[in-house]
Amino acid sequence: MSEEKRPQARVSRVILILIGIGMVVSLYFIVSATTGYFQNPQGSQWQTQLLFGLLILGAIWLFNFWIRGRSKKIEWHTVSQLKCEQEGCEYSEIRDFKEGDYVYKKLGNCPLCGGQDTLYIDLIYAYNPLEVKPQSTETAQSA
Ligand SMILES: [Zn+2]
Repeated sequence: MSEEKRPQARVSRVILILIGIGMVVSLYFIVSATTGYFQNPQGSQWQTQLLFGLLILGAIWLFNFWIRGRSKKIEWHTVSQLKCEQEGCEYSEIRDFKEGDYVYKKLGNCPLCGGQDTLYIDLIYAYNPLEVKPQSTETAQSA
């Protein structure tokens, strides 16, 4: 998890600096537009400054939206893979992770071979549902 957090942190630092500079510049334009207006309401200079200030603010606002859309958090999906410890039994099932699940936890009888208390949790893992679908190790090996 820490691996995908690092590059994001670096990107957001650059963005923060850019947004900070943009804020200062737009604030400068808006302040000087205000003073320009009080000094000479008929003049056109303050209008240009106000326009620039608002344009930069608008750009920051849009930029913010764009970044937020890009750095959408990955919603990891956790699953448990069940297997049967009975020799020769190929039973394998992937189901959503349930609270209290742990690797090697016994889950009772096998629905395939009927083995007594042979069903157990073989694997617990998380995947990104947008990129990969869970695959049983059996299918992955034979494919
Ligand atoms: Zn079985």
